[in-house]
Amino acid sequence: MLWEQYGRDEYYSERASFVKNIIPDDVNSLLDVGAGKGEIINNLTENIDTVMGLDISEEALKYLNCKAVLGSIENLPFDDKSFDLVMCMEVLEHLPIKSLSLGVHELQRVAKNYLLISVPFNENIDARKVRCPRCKMIFNIDTHFRNFQTERELCQLFPDFQLNKKWLCGPSYRRPSRVQLFIQQKILNIYYPLDHYFVCIFCGAKYSEFESITSNERTSFAKNRFGLLRSLSRLRIFEMLFKLFSFLKKNEACWMFVLLRRNEIIKINH
Ligand SMILES: [Zn+2]
Repeated sequence: MLWEQYGRDEYYSERASFVKNIIPDDVNSLLDVGAGKGEIINNLTENIDTVMGLDISEEALKYLNCKAVLGSIENLPFDDKSFDLVMCMEVLEHLPIKSLSLGVHELQRVAKNYLLISVPFNENIDARKVRCPRCKMIFNIDTHFRNFQTERELCQLFPDFQLNKKWLCGPSYRRPSRVQLFIQQKILNIYYPLDHYFVCIFCGAKYSEFESITSNERTSFAKNRFGLLRSLSRLRIFEMLFKLFSFLKKNEACWMFVLLRRNEIIKINH
């Protein structure tokens, strides 16, 4: 599938150069919330006076070439309106509902003029659902909890700001159809294949525990239920269904970026 063929390095370098080009000229201070290893922010230090990256991972922060701050989006350790621009790239889709509401409040609070937000665009989060072999819980492998289909959905999280510009960018791919996912998950009981990075968000189970189980599962599944499919791996069935049901779908970009501007406060003199 297309999104898997897209290499990690390509992914970050494309985003980094894109972001560099869309930051408004009047930004002199910038905070990246969820900076990770600085894939984006490390490219922004040349042109902007104050650049800071915040992340909950102490390990990730070691890679930043600007000031690194350990902290959570739920409680940003900065005063109100501390930065001309606050950016938050592909973080919001990961947040459980309570963290999301705390997080968007904090982003609005510390941003003086602009917010730059990106999320996966119109992603079908069911498509990459895995089932933990130990606890049987089903969840999105990327721990994405929500999907943003329009910029409106994203912007309405930030009532103190309004949309200034939006972009759809990144590699395009066809979304799987609902029919495919229904057949695959509800009828064939096939979820997204586990990879080596799998860690269950519910019970903490790791891939290494299941390496043998998952390969057994592949064959026993076919033997028990669909003899004809015996020689097919899960991934192959996945691809077949995808081709069968997604041919009418159009390619769409993978990310949505929005630049928001703080609402002007009109002062009325009495
Ligand atoms: Zn589990």
